[in-house]
Amino acid sequence: MLLSITTTHGPAGDLGYLLHKHPDKFQSFNLSFGTAHTYYPEVGDGRCTACLLLDVDAVGLVRGRNPDQDFLLAQYVNDRPYVASSFLSVAIAQVFGSALQGRCKDRPELVTTPIPLEARLDVLPVRGGEGFLRAVFEPLGYEVEATHHPLDEKFPEWGESPYFSVTIRRTVPLSELLTHLYVLVPVFDARKHYFVGHDEMEKLLAKGEGWLARHPAKDEIARRYLGHRLSLYRMALSRLVEDEEPGDGDDETPANERAEQRLEKPLSLNDQRLGAVVAALRASGAKRILDLGCGEGKLLRELLGDRQFEEILGLDVSVRSLEIATRRLKLERLPDAQAKRLKLVHGSLTYRDRRLDGFDAAAVVEVIEHLDPPRLRAFERVLFECARPGTVVLTTPNREFNVTWDALPAGRFRHADHRFEWTRREFHEWATAVATRFGYAVRFLPVGPEHPEYGSPTQMGVFERG
Ligand code: SAH
Repeated sequence: MLLSITTTHGPAGDLGYLLHKHPDKFQSFNLSFGTAHTYYPEVGDGRCTACLLLDVDAVGLVRGRNPDQDFLLAQYVNDRPYVASSFLSVAIAQVFGSALQGRCKDRPELVTTPIPLEARLDVLPVRGGEGFLRAVFEPLGYEVEATHHPLDEKFPEWGESPYFSVTIRRTVPLSELLTHLYVLVPVFDARKHYFVGHDEMEKLLAKGEGWLARHPAKDEIARRYLGHRLSLYRMALSRLVEDEEPGDGDDETPANERAEQRLEKPLSLNDQRLGAVVAALRASGAKRILDLGCGEGKLLRELLGDRQFEEILGLDVSVRSLEIATRRLKLERLPDAQAKRLKLVHGSLTYRDRRLDGFDAAAVVEVIEHLDPPRLRAFERVLFECARPGTVVLTTPNREFNVTWDALPAGRFRHADHRFEWTRREFHEWATAVATRFGYAVRFLPVGPEHPEYGSPTQMGVFERG
């Protein structure tokens, strides 16, 4: 199985820097399923080619497996050693890991530089034929060249095989090309060699960041990548769609968000909420803060303005929101000392995430009502069991208050994406149960003007670890 990457970008050594593989060396790497070799068959100033040759150990793969499971001979005689498949993705991640992640200590500017690149896959099994091949690569801007191979040249009557030799070309940063190959190569193949689970979905979402949500074939790509596991596919898709929130002309705030803001505006509830959250965080003495579901960064701006908070990490599932936050906070233009205090990361609160470990406090402002109720349990564990900050400041709408808004039809939520809105009692019951289960104490505070009967528009719980 052979992947060749060629560039006409000079000097030739640059490809070596980017791949972290010296052009003069032949190197071999042991992987769980065989050996990967890297070498440069062509090193000139006008053109440079690096190869990743994968030697899959078909016999080794079978060892230890129950021989009754499959047709015996097929375990040994199959196309795995010869075709580009999910093994290639694993090899790319392990052998070209830094290049895939866009890291290059020696020549950092090269990482983001689009360079003319060509990737050739000698044998790619393509379910769906050339049409699908083009439908996957062409929307990403690649020029595609494909040669279809017959099953056996001596017996043309046997017809075409599923195998193609494929070359794709584009001027693009190398990490982007590798990311596309990493995600897309297994999509053409009928099989994946490893178990497809939640990790795979996370990988797909992480590696698909910034391009997959806009890809016209995203449904089919996600379905195939996740090996037809329907529940994962649906989940992945719903999150891809979240990434994609359509813009509203010049106003980058989505329409439903604006509706919510309009409703709450007369109270300037937003400001009161932020004020209450910052006050609770300040009072906890926390220095290292998480803003979970940070959205477009309103709280982050407040936190940056207060020197008590030395390290701030904002996380959101929506790439679009993170992009808006980056722009609004002018992150690129902040002085170094300021910029160092703040980091924004893409992730979901319903998956355990090591990046959230070790913080003093977490703010979760108007986020839980966006989670599907069945995922709430996962969120509870991710935050209170795994990340386990000393303090959690969490807010959510108080549904009882909604009747006081003439503009809101009875029984409707404040925001189209809210999955639920709780009464004070529902929130207290949930929060108390969570606190008890994970060893926290919780107290409740109203936010916004209190109605004698319906309470305040926002309810806040402050959890302190025992
Ligand atoms: N805290 C912000 C944004 C609230 S809107 C503020 O007060 O302005 C809710 C935010 O939660 C959105 O940005 C949404 O993308 C994010 N969100 C929804 N589900 C999420 C999940 N599973 N993980 C992380 N963030 C999520």
